[in-house]
Amino acid sequence: GYRKGGYHAARPGDRFAGGRFVAQRKIGWGNFSTVWLAYDTLHSRFVALKIQKSARDYAHAALHEIELLSAVAKGDPTNSKCVLRLLDHFKHAGPNGRHVCLVTEFLGDSLLRLIRYNRNKGIGLSRVKEICRSVLVGLDYLHSELGIIHTDLKPENVLLDSTINPAKDPVRSGFTPILDRPVGNQYGGTVISFSEKMLKMRARRAVAKISQRRVSIGGVGAQLEKERCLDGISLKCKIVDFGNACWADQQLAGEIQTRQYRAPEVIIGSGYSYSADMWSFACIAFELATGDLLFAPKNCQGCSEDEDHLALMMETLGKMPRKIATSGTRSKDYFDRHGDLKRIRRLKFWPLDRVLVERYNFTEPDAKGFSDFLRPMLDFTPENRPSAAQCLKHPWLN
Ligand code: ATP
Ligand code: MG
Ligand code: MG
Repeated sequence: GYRKGGYHAARPGDRFAGGRFVAQRKIGWGNFSTVWLAYDTLHSRFVALKIQKSARDYAHAALHEIELLSAVAKGDPTNSKCVLRLLDHFKHAGPNGRHVCLVTEFLGDSLLRLIRYNRNKGIGLSRVKEICRSVLVGLDYLHSELGIIHTDLKPENVLLDSTINPAKDPVRSGFTPILDRPVGNQYGGTVISFSEKMLKMRARRAVAKISQRRVSIGGVGAQLEKERCLDGISLKCKIVDFGNACWADQQLAGEIQTRQYRAPEVIIGSGYSYSADMWSFACIAFELATGDLLFAPKNCQGCSEDEDHLALMMETLGKMPRKIATSGTRSKDYFDRHGDLKRIRRLKFWPLDRVLVERYNFTEPDAKGFSDFLRPMLDFTPENRPSAAQCLKHPWLN
């Protein structure tokens, strides 16, 4: 973490880019960076500041991300294509090294937050549809207009346009930006906790204001009615985190994607393209609708996570065609020449539409509609998967 080559330790009030951006509070982090809400004093607006770890590889990755996000911004002058907007970038010298920083529009909570807010019970199909539309618009733009494969689609990397908790939205809560670094005791934390306390107070007031409309507030600290709170907000969202994205014709990594969202062709090593993003997208849609991961592979006795993953896929989607199963550089590790898994012999088939009815209590028509939409994106043959543009035309969304 916070050492040479690692994260930059920022504090509220810290200034960046010659004083233009003022750090407000930390809003996220990943393996590569910390992300801060910052105030842009030049344009009087809140922005997100992604401060990359400083070691060379991280800096390199950030420069790559800047290259891709610049293309994204250039091709979408009205910022309507559901992909994060890059506003600026610069380098910041700190005690741990020089950090590449990306300035982007400030967005709301991630889909992961949204799923957790709903206690992993799914967010309702009309909301799922709304989010699917946005993500597909973003993917269609990346794939067919720019030639970019995202390669790391997952709920953490799709952000809502607005925050679930309105009190956390600096614009809607009327949050006054911190413009100065608190003076006085730098180490005791009293000064900093003062500004955090103010933030919390403001936040509480804003929550009360917004919730009054339909939620009765109990005593102090009454919990926000989380599900109802969603009714008022638009579920438009944007694709973020281009740290692993690539031009389709300049692929670097063989192994892409986060485990649970990884496409079968990536696991068996038979090459990938835009359709790998479509696989991840289907996994996200399922997770939004049910609150559960579509595939949650584990290391099992005598078999690897990869093999368990392939087995889970086949149990839900049917047997992988032999031609596909045997086509990858790693096929021999997992499959025999008939295209059967070598170490997992007995599969318990449970098709997607049945899972939706029997495990998640979907009505038959809901299950049919949703699985008709998802199944084609989960085709084992990548070329058979529909493009984002084709999915946008699917009757389930219209
Ligand atoms: P990873 O480990 O996934 O590669 P990363 O270090 O590349 O992560 P991001 O995924 O870009 O970083 O950002 C980390 C988190 O910060 C996001 O999941 C999100 O919660 C938050 N975040 C990022 N950008 C924004 C933004 N523009 N507005 C609001 N929150 C953001
Ligand atoms: Mg991320
Ligand atoms: Mg990243």
